[in-house]
Amino acid sequence: MKTKNCALCEKEILQAYRVKITPWKIWIFVCGACCLKAKKWEYYVYWWTWKWKKK
Ligand SMILES: [Zn+2]
Repeated sequence: MKTKNCALCEKEILQAYRVKITPWKIWIFVCGACCLKAKKWEYYVYWWTWKWKKK
């Protein structure tokens, strides 16, 4: 399984935040830093946190 990349800064992330940043039903994964940034945006909705487990 691949790791995820942040939809905003494109960095590889081990803990992703599932958020919505538009008025449409488009959910994206972002890193912690971008999640904090996105919180200030009008259409920000948080859904859940996704954790990458090393195997
Ligand atoms: Zn990011």
